[in-house]
Amino acid sequence: SLDVPLPVLGADVLVPLASGGQIDYAALDCAASAPAARAVWDEVAAFAPHYAGVHRGAGQLSLRATELFERSRAEVAAFLGCRPGDQVVFTRSTTDSLNLLAGALPEGTRVFAFASEHHALLLPWRRHPLTCLPVPRSAAEAVRAVDEALAARPAGTPALLCVTGASNVTGELWPVRELVAVARRHGARVVLDAAQLAPHRAVDLGELDVDWVAFSGHKLYAPFGSGVLAGRGDWLSEAEPYLAGGGATRVVTRGSDGRLAVEWARDEARHEAGSPNVIGALAVAAACRALAAVGFEAIEAHERRLLGVVREGLASVPGVRELSLFGSGADRVAVVSFTVAGREAADAARELSERYGIGVRAGMFCAQPLVRELLDAEADAGCEGPEAAVRVSFGAGTPLAHAERLVLAVRELAA
Ligand code: PMP
Repeated sequence: SLDVPLPVLGADVLVPLASGGQIDYAALDCAASAPAARAVWDEVAAFAPHYAGVHRGAGQLSLRATELFERSRAEVAAFLGCRPGDQVVFTRSTTDSLNLLAGALPEGTRVFAFASEHHALLLPWRRHPLTCLPVPRSAAEAVRAVDEALAARPAGTPALLCVTGASNVTGELWPVRELVAVARRHGARVVLDAAQLAPHRAVDLGELDVDWVAFSGHKLYAPFGSGVLAGRGDWLSEAEPYLAGGGATRVVTRGSDGRLAVEWARDEARHEAGSPNVIGALAVAAACRALAAVGFEAIEAHERRLLGVVREGLASVPGVRELSLFGSGADRVAVVSFTVAGREAADAARELSERYGIGVRAGMFCAQPLVRELLDAEADAGCEGPEAAVRVSFGAGTPLAHAERLVLAVRELAA
């Protein structure tokens, strides 16, 4: 009955309405966490009876689990278009991936990031000098700012440019190719935060020419607690292990002087100490397979249709304003943030939940410098000066009816 390219769990969950009665829950907060894809959940359920730890046990189930775990790594690598020498490290989340990378930067690496980034891409670089570039208001401005900042750094210093694939606030796509080209010209490396891009568009490391990519399983129709850092292995295999412990070592010995000598693994195991999240890794690989099977063309077509309904619908409601960095014509994924004149964002979000069974998010979305700047711009334009925004976001499993319900609901709230 639900005409979606990627069936997800939760489509039949009923929630009570303030007016009495029940309604099917409209999960319009996929940018925070997407519902699990049915195909992913089925694979996890099929694996559960064979559940066993990896890389340690000698039993048959353990060997089989190890094989599946490593096959998952290879599948994620293929999904991401990894190159020879790239590694796929299983992490807990995008945040975890970026913190891992931060610990692997050579001493003295300068980091460059826009103030508009999600805090997960803005904050992990505390041990390194960070140049925080102003929030750009056009793609050209972003490229120019990076060009100037990289040119101004001391000659020969290693540099890392942080780039977002798609904004978690406005959904807008960033000029990744152009930014990478500038970085390359200046000999800088690039990490792509694909937390919001990977669920909506193909991400190919080779094609984009980025050094690393990070994303989260729970935004990619897989369970929580699983994420990926993929990319160049050189800095990773030289770095201090992210966690120290079993599984990350090749040889541990006690010398005659009483000291421990450790030879760390040089592949992904170096940063995956402890018993890994086998279910999470299998689920992420299953999600990659499910998305590849549906195809990003079909996903994009579906999401564009819903995005059109939501954006055109909201634009026709007096007092509703969509937040945008690069202008309303900029290409974007299925994320829309807006304010409603005279309405607190938190109140609007609560009413959407209680009166209409729609789950959204209100706040600053862990991107405070960006949201503050966009809201201040509204206040300058003579509006009330809201303190927060409402965000709706959807995906390959969102039915059209939920997008339509949202527009009707906001129209009633704004009246
Ligand atoms: N980057 C972006 C662009 C995000 O939207 C998010 C999640 N909101 C993150 C990073 C962090 O992801 P996680 O919470 O899964 O670590």
